Amino acid sequence: MRLYDTYTRSLVELPPPPGPVRMYFCGPTVYARAHIGNARPFVLGMWLRSWLRATGYEARLVHNITDINDKIYDAAPGASAELAARATEWYLRDTADLGLGMPDELPKATETVPEIVRFIEELIAAGHAYASGGDVYFSVASFPDYGRLSGQRPDQVEQGEEPSALKRDPRDFALWKANKPATEDTWWDSPWGRGRPGWHIECSVMAEEIFGPAFEIHGGGLDLVFPHHENEVAQSRALGHPFAQIWAHNGMLRFTGEKMSKSIGNVATIREALDEWGREAVLVFFLTASWRKPIDFSPETMAQATARRDTLRNAFTLEPAADDEARWDAFAQALDDDFDTPAALAILHEWASARRLGLLRRGLAIFGLESLAELERAPADVVELAERRARARAARDFETSDRLRDDLAARGWEMRDEPGGGYTLVRDA
Ligand SMILES: [Zn+2]
Repeated sequence: MRLYDTYTRSLVELPPPPGPVRMYFCGPTVYARAHIGNARPFVLGMWLRSWLRATGYEARLVHNITDINDKIYDAAPGASAELAARATEWYLRDTADLGLGMPDELPKATETVPEIVRFIEELIAAGHAYASGGDVYFSVASFPDYGRLSGQRPDQVEQGEEPSALKRDPRDFALWKANKPATEDTWWDSPWGRGRPGWHIECSVMAEEIFGPAFEIHGGGLDLVFPHHENEVAQSRALGHPFAQIWAHNGMLRFTGEKMSKSIGNVATIREALDEWGREAVLVFFLTASWRKPIDFSPETMAQATARRDTLRNAFTLEPAADDEARWDAFAQALDDDFDTPAALAILHEWASARRLGLLRRGLAIFGLESLAELERAPADVVELAERRARARAARDFETSDRLRDDLAARGWEMRDEPGGGYTLVRDA
């Protein structure tokens, strides 16, 4: 299997099964109900784990919870820890309701502070960081490869962080920040006084505490390449740790169409999307785009995803045809080649219209969609009517076709025509 890697800008082959494949995907900063865009790296990580395990890999997924952050202090002055705990619960519940299971570990920054302090001490001892006025900064000039992940020359690196008189170089970024009592109601003791870790060092340390200094895949949204991931690479590789082998950055979710604001105006969170369309349609929606490309979230794209879900599900009301196991290879090839879910989805649809229900069930299960196979089978006399109507339609005998449709409706079944002459049978609601 191969995946696109941001660092080398090329497709990189994974080690052969059983691997291991250790994956660290940056998780949410917990200060509000998580945005539907946050579901994308979660879903991608869970699907990758599912596919890797199905193909004989030992795959593990770590997804961190950023529960120390300026956004949390800003959102809940005087009660930041309470908000972070509540928002963590929301995130865990909302992602659990996607029905994909949960990551193997969900480390929290607040539970990793002693390890973070130790890591910073090592960076200072190695000459890659310096204490200044209660803060500690990483010295960008000490790491010549800085800028490679985001494709910037070291001397022209854009400034990712706030300016500060305490920095020796404006490109330097904070590893530790002194406590600001007026706005920050949580702090930890350190050799540099009371304070709290910077965001980037949290991820380097949480990943390495669980996986050790080297692991296979680091994931997260494209918006994290700079400065977050550039800084993670610098911190870890400055100490000689190989860190991540493949950087897998997912494309962003875009809200499109003005209609969005009018018709489903407030749908912006994972919870709201689940309530509005159900988890299966949300998952089918994420299947429709390559994980590296942007994906457009709109009433139209969600309606299309819902229709696709119905087509896949309705296939199970009909008598299965014999499975053609050779076609599984095409499905596997699509996923092994940079996890091409749009190609895999096209094959799922092919199986649905050819009634290869064993293959379809197996393919859906990779994406947490096996529930679509739990549909009531249409009785033989209903299928017989549907077959006769399909033949009448093909012969352009619309009078007979309409009569048979009414007969089906009288038995409580709706016949939905699919492009290409196929059909599905749906139990009338
Ligand atoms: Zn991170």
